[in-house]
Amino acid sequence: MKNKYLIANWKMNKTLDENRDFFKIFLKKALTIPKTQIIFCPPFVGLFDVSNTLSGTGIEVGAQNVYFEESGAFTGETSTTMLKNCGCVWVILGHSERRSIFLEEEKLIRRKLENVLSSGLSPILCIGESLDERKNNDTSNVLYSQLSSALKNISNNSVENLIIAYEPVWAIGTGMVATASMIQETHNNIKQILTKLNFDNSKIPLIYGGSVKPNNAKELINIDNVDGFLVGGASLDPHVFYDIYNKF
Ligand code: PEP
Repeated sequence: MKNKYLIANWKMNKTLDENRDFFKIFLKKALTIPKTQIIFCPPFVGLFDVSNTLSGTGIEVGAQNVYFEESGAFTGETSTTMLKNCGCVWVILGHSERRSIFLEEEKLIRRKLENVLSSGLSPILCIGESLDERKNNDTSNVLYSQLSSALKNISNNSVENLIIAYEPVWAIGTGMVATASMIQETHNNIKQILTKLNFDNSKIPLIYGGSVKPNNAKELINIDNVDGFLVGGASLDPHVFYDIYNKF
């Protein structure tokens, strides 16, 4: 695996034409920073086209969600096989918008994670506390409960391609970014939780997400236990996203 990850979560943004326009600009830039993996997660309908556009560039493609069943009467859902068939390598799971807007519960996230790992796709598991939970000093408990639930039936041997994204819910899309010391402390905490759950935390990249922008990326990527970013809003513009990449 690479040492650093820069992951674009496009959420429900961009048409096929807009995707192509983005890459006409982005792929002209110098993408030569060593050991840094760029991953784009467009909406489902863009996956195939984006994968084709990025073929041979070293940039990888991820989905923003997946279902745990292989096929059948699950209207509106998508399987891991379909994603792989579109050129997908990664899948975001447990994003706070999936948890809060689409009411995804821990058990569903666990089933999805288990299915993704056994499919050969690589999961990006999002965890994070709400503002109230942080104010109530509940962050550790929330992170413990999210991690212990998602990883309940998974062993250290099968998480080779897992990335964990720490995304404080209050920092997503709000412009409120966690401070460097808060991120460092929380990432340490997550590493301790992983150890407690019998995982070798040195093998699981830990990335930060929540209002990462070119003006804070340098400070945040220099935190010793930050292995990269999951970026929403600032990944939609090729110049802005490239500015973040340039801070790695
Ligand atoms: C996200 O959606 O995962 C995210 C971090 O969004 P933003 O960068 O816009 O806060």
